[in-house]
Amino acid sequence: MTPPDNLKTLILEAQRLLLICHVTPDGDAIGSLLGLGWSLRKAGKQVTLACPDTTPTELQFLPGADEIGPARPEALAQAEVIVILDSSDRERIANQYAEAPFLAKPVIVIDHHVTNVLFGDVNWVEPTAAATAQMCAELIRQLGLPLDEEVALCLLTGIVTDTRCFRTSNTTAEVLAAATRLIEAGASLADVTERVFRDNSLARICLWARALGGVQMKDRVIWTEVSREMLKACGAGTRDTTGLANFLDATRDTDVSIVLVEKNGKVEASMRAQRGVDISGVAFGLGGGGHPQAAGFTRQGTLAEIREQVLSATWAALREQGRA
Ligand code: 5GP
Ligand code: MN
Repeated sequence: MTPPDNLKTLILEAQRLLLICHVTPDGDAIGSLLGLGWSLRKAGKQVTLACPDTTPTELQFLPGADEIGPARPEALAQAEVIVILDSSDRERIANQYAEAPFLAKPVIVIDHHVTNVLFGDVNWVEPTAAATAQMCAELIRQLGLPLDEEVALCLLTGIVTDTRCFRTSNTTAEVLAAATRLIEAGASLADVTERVFRDNSLARICLWARALGGVQMKDRVIWTEVSREMLKACGAGTRDTTGLANFLDATRDTDVSIVLVEKNGKVEASMRAQRGVDISGVAFGLGGGGHPQAAGFTRQGTLAEIREQVLSATWAALREQGRA
């Protein structure tokens, strides 16, 4: 895994950098943002950390999480370089960044999604990397940037969350070696797993009970839906659906799991696939993206409309891939 030379030069030479991660950020987005951000700061650079959405509660323990917010116009104007993390297209960082000052700067994209559309001026995309945080750790190592306990904790969180605690099929020896280096630098794996995977509220349990009550399964696809009424009845938020698709993915005799969540007149879809099945194309075709085994999209429509679209596209993909 080697970052392009022009990426290294841009990062080393810039004094003021703006780092951005994607909407509804997950552990890899926030972990990469903070990990790379802290390392660059400790190397003496001025770094602004931006994300269009708030940090989920289970990631708020990370150092610096409280300062992440939408990029202010001053930060945009002052930055010499913009680094976009874990995002496969421009929509992932929201429209506010499609502004003139933004486009006038060199934009670096660091990402591991196979569906990345290469929208930066310099794109470093490694689909075999298990997490963008793994790529950031490698970049820091190759550039000789500071790696202390704070940096390591953030990056380890990114690797742990995107690999579902080293369980995904892309968890190679290289991933474990990267995680080992972070643990050696002072990050506690036990702290990360406890914080990240032990954050359920009663409202979330109530929502999962309802969502699991509505599960359906047909032709090797398992799915469920979360409506606005369900969220309201439980006092839960759309973030409380995180993990539901992974849970369904563990169902015997299924190839694909899908969770559909009603959100502001749109539907957000989370998809998971078994090893040997690739649903990144289905998600990409419906306006999103992701990895072969984990993908998603957000699309205008009702739950019933999106269910129809995603199920027919999924069954078509399964037939094409010789699974049905
Ligand atoms: P999750 O189901 O955990 O929200 O997302 C699974 C994977 O799909 C992640 O790698 C995420 O980046 C990708 N993904 C989810 N939603 C979208 C989307 O709306 N657009 C794109 N491009 N990727 C998405
Ligand atoms: Mn990721």
